[in-house]
Amino acid sequence: MTNCPECDAEVSCGAMIAGEIFPCRDCGTELEVIATTPIAIERAPKEAEDWGE
Ligand SMILES: [Zn+2]
Repeated sequence: MTNCPECDAEVSCGAMIAGEIFPCRDCGTELEVIATTPIAIERAPKEAEDWGE
């Protein structure tokens, strides 16, 4: 178990793999699994979506 870096909600990390990106179920921030032993997560870098149209 670890915590969301954005809202500090507990994030379940039962079946995470490094490099996986998933949304925080609490705040919706996209989080990337940096490492699994021990678990480390970061906010995923925002990819260019439909900004600046
Ligand atoms: Zn969060």
